[in-house]
Amino acid sequence: MAECRVQGCTNTPTDVFVVEDLKFEYLVCAFHLQALGEGEPWEEATDGRSGKILMGDDIAPDFIDGSWRTVVGSSGQRHTLHLKVGRDGVEDGEITFAVSPEQAGQLAKVLQQIAGEG
Ligand SMILES: [Zn+2]
Repeated sequence: MAECRVQGCTNTPTDVFVVEDLKFEYLVCAFHLQALGEGEPWEEATDGRSGKILMGDDIAPDFIDGSWRTVVGSSGQRHTLHLKVGRDGVEDGEITFAVSPEQAGQLAKVLQQIAGEG
């Protein structure tokens, strides 16, 4: 049985949401057709893997600020990245993780690809 294209919604699709500019059509339930029609923010991955429309908290938050620190401990010396994220310019969380110099290089390559699109 088909499901509404919105992530996490198990309703049976009864309507078609048409994005004229992009020539996309999505099968959605009546509830989400109304929400989309009223201009609720939405996103869909363009790499073809997702196939689901993201809405509400499923939409990735925005990057607000980033910093890094050098820490020492039982694992020796490491570098930690601290990324502040939020919505509408308001910070509502911080993601912290350790990266090796090699991983930082991988990350830099990924970010350079995005920068190249700018
Ligand atoms: Zn739905």
